[in-house]
Amino acid sequence: MEIEIATIGGYEEVGRQMTAVRAGDDIVIFDMGLNLSQVLIHDNVETEKMHSLDLIDMGAIPDDRVMSDLEGDVQAIVPTHGHLDHIGAISKLAHRYDAPIVASPFTLELVKGQIEGEQKFGVDNDLVEMESGETMQIGEECELEFVHVTHSIIDAINPVLHTPEGSVVYGLDKRIDHDPVLEDPIDMERFREIGREGEGVLCYIEDCTNAGRKGRTPSESVARRHLKDAMQSMEDYDGGIVATTFSSHVSRVSSLVEFAKDIGREPILLGRSMEQYSGTAERMGRVNFPDDLGMFGHRKSVDRAFKRVMNEGKENFLPIVTGHQGEPRAMLTRMGRGETPYDIENGDKVIFSARVIPEPTNEGQRYQSEQLLRMQGARIYDDIHVSGHLREEGHYEMMQALQPQHIIPAHQDMKGFAPYVSLAESQGYKVGRDLHVTSNGNTIQLVE
Ligand SMILES: [Zn+2]
Repeated sequence: MEIEIATIGGYEEVGRQMTAVRAGDDIVIFDMGLNLSQVLIHDNVETEKMHSLDLIDMGAIPDDRVMSDLEGDVQAIVPTHGHLDHIGAISKLAHRYDAPIVASPFTLELVKGQIEGEQKFGVDNDLVEMESGETMQIGEECELEFVHVTHSIIDAINPVLHTPEGSVVYGLDKRIDHDPVLEDPIDMERFREIGREGEGVLCYIEDCTNAGRKGRTPSESVARRHLKDAMQSMEDYDGGIVATTFSSHVSRVSSLVEFAKDIGREPILLGRSMEQYSGTAERMGRVNFPDDLGMFGHRKSVDRAFKRVMNEGKENFLPIVTGHQGEPRAMLTRMGRGETPYDIENGDKVIFSARVIPEPTNEGQRYQSEQLLRMQGARIYDDIHVSGHLREEGHYEMMQALQPQHIIPAHQDMKGFAPYVSLAESQGYKVGRDLHVTSNGNTIQLVE
């Protein structure tokens, strides 16, 4: 059976991930993501109303025109998890394919939200829920399986396409976490089995984000302990404390909520995306928030909540807000500019349970936001966080578990691939033979 991979997006950047695997006449698409930095760089771009080709030209969504080079039928579109760089282009591209969108429950809910917000295209692909551990028949001879992985959002999976020539493992976005918060540890046992069974692993497509960092990525429980310690150190402070993190990182938000209660403060979630992700997780029963937890997304209700905080005393509350990257329109940035009823005073504390995404736009915006807060006397608690991506030893462990015949580095640019390429070469792989360093818009024929 012919096996061919199309590297459509996310092979020159972190963002707009999209890869297609053709096995004989059947094609499965993994991820359809957005490159958010290409959107944010333009002021006031509303992607909801934009046409796909304009977004492709902006570099915001994958240029899927290479799909016409693949001879076969798309059988499934499979987003691996709910981050926008993996699902953000579904509303712009999925309607071009006559195939269902297959995803884990939480991811599928977020995809629904994306489709509902779309104003240009009517996306009416079937939505199929599949849990990790489950499989789906693809064509006559292939099978799609979801393996549970741990990442900075719940319900992440690595999809595996089992073909008669061996398995294709799409390994994007995970860390090996044996002690996560809110969900099960990564299913390494299953990866080891997949490496050994049948024809073994034909190809492993891997996320190289942190390949240049030594050692292994700590568990989410490490970030949780760090956060607990930092917040307990603030227990006696009788002024304002504000926290921010990735809205989509429901495990982290739930730790913040819990520790707020521990230090005698009422947590409140503020900001549109904070309300969206946490609200979705709560409705699905994926997180156990206190019954009286306030979540406010709309400007007016947010301002009302802030007024209540100011009236009843800042020392009684922990606002958990958007804006960890200094995004100009996010809540923390607005607080820094004095645009909300919340007054930041000398000695007040701001917890960034996040790391600045190392990208010039983010770094600049975050610097500005932090300076605005410091000018009002805020104390900054930075980087109370662990990454959701594998480091060098995690990558080594995955190679050992899967023993893939071919490897395709992804989720980075050429510079970002380099440390991963060194690691793979040290394990006997060779660029141009079985280690395929590539860019967007290419096809790689693995079996002819
Ligand atoms: Zn991700």
